[in-house]
Amino acid sequence: MAENLNGQILIIGAGHAGGSVAALLRQYGWTGPVLLAGAESRPPYQRPPLSKGLLLGKVTLQELQLKPDNFYAERGIDLACGRQAIAIDRVARQVRFETGEPVNYDHLVIATGARLRALDVPGNALDGVMSLRTADDALKLRAAVRKGLRVAVVGGGFIGLEAAASALQAGAEVRVIERESRLMARVASRELSEFVAGHARAHGITIEMNASVCRFIGTAGQLAAVELADGRVFPCDLALVGIGVLAQQSLAESAGLACEDGILVDARAATSDVRISAIGDCSRRPVPLFERSARLESVHNAVEQAKQVAARLCGKPVTAAEAPWTWSDQFDLRLQIAGLISPTDEVVMRGDPAAGSFAIFHVSQAGVLRAVEAVNAPMDFAFARMAIGRRLQTPPARLRDPTVALKELALN
Ligand code: NAP
Repeated sequence: MAENLNGQILIIGAGHAGGSVAALLRQYGWTGPVLLAGAESRPPYQRPPLSKGLLLGKVTLQELQLKPDNFYAERGIDLACGRQAIAIDRVARQVRFETGEPVNYDHLVIATGARLRALDVPGNALDGVMSLRTADDALKLRAAVRKGLRVAVVGGGFIGLEAAASALQAGAEVRVIERESRLMARVASRELSEFVAGHARAHGITIEMNASVCRFIGTAGQLAAVELADGRVFPCDLALVGIGVLAQQSLAESAGLACEDGILVDARAATSDVRISAIGDCSRRPVPLFERSARLESVHNAVEQAKQVAARLCGKPVTAAEAPWTWSDQFDLRLQIAGLISPTDEVVMRGDPAAGSFAIFHVSQAGVLRAVEAVNAPMDFAFARMAIGRRLQTPPARLRDPTVALKELALN
């Protein structure tokens, strides 16, 4: 059943999640007013290429737009860019913005995304200390990176490693500084971390592990070096800080919605207020296949939750959640990760890392495939995504045997 709506659907946040839900509402037949209001000055765009294609000048911002320029107007979606929401009044069912009149809603979708975790050390405001979240950040970085520039990348996660690869390809000298004992520790297994570190080093990136930045050193307001807690000082011209993100939940929190490292939502992206949904990076959702909740920072999650909300508001069935997945491109590597990795699962390697194409499967004690990390192995990834979603029993011995076709396992 469609919820009893007759007024406006207001979406705050015009990123991948917000833009997708606006488009899907129309696709699923919603005929009422839709207002999509975003703080950035641009219409919704794809973020993943910011650290790759855009940084290398291979794609333009225009090409990254989620939808063509006339899409929103043609579908009667009122797109308001550069409008920062500052408060939600749940009783009056209104959102206040930094400028202009408050806007009424019948249903509110919060798609405010995430904000960068700040590196709180002296010198972090020096010229040359940068971050990468928005298209403007990426354009600024692109303008600065040139041959011979000494770049310190703080954080060895997706942003750091993708941007490090791009900067190196643009001719810069790159050093990655990671606090953990391995790269991508939040999302990857130790096996994948080690392979990626080896690959990055082989391309010429220097990596400092277990390394904590204690300050940036400047000369006349301009970055000149980065100092680590162990006393080492590395001269650099540019530092890119990519140390993770935090859910943008303050609007929801101030309005009394339940939050816990993310706005808490159910399997249909509904918050603790029946008139409000939350989707994308700002939300913490149940992951049914894994019997736990998580904040999933991925395009797949943004679109899946956008579908949940659009279907629910349009009275269509909400489809079952798929296994979460994401990808990362670094040099000639396409990393594809599906499922959630647990230290108690058995690690099963298929293929040869030395050949640059392999998959790391993670099988539970009960013999069920729970996650995959595929490196230049799209077929293995496609199989695993399907198998994780179906909770397929996958005997490790057969999984690691290259003479057993994966589709045979699916038939068992
Ligand atoms: P991330 O994946 O969380 O990685 C940040 C890394 O920096 C973590 O390993 C973190 O370690 C480390 N770190 C934290 N504090 C540090 C410090 N003081 N010094 C050195 N290292 C430190 O986040 P991200 O790479 O910044 O990416 C930001 C967001 O963009 C994420 O949502 C990410 O998923 C998204 N993104 C996705 C893609 C993709 O899917 N291809 C590409 C780019 C960006 P701890 O775990 O100990 O904090």
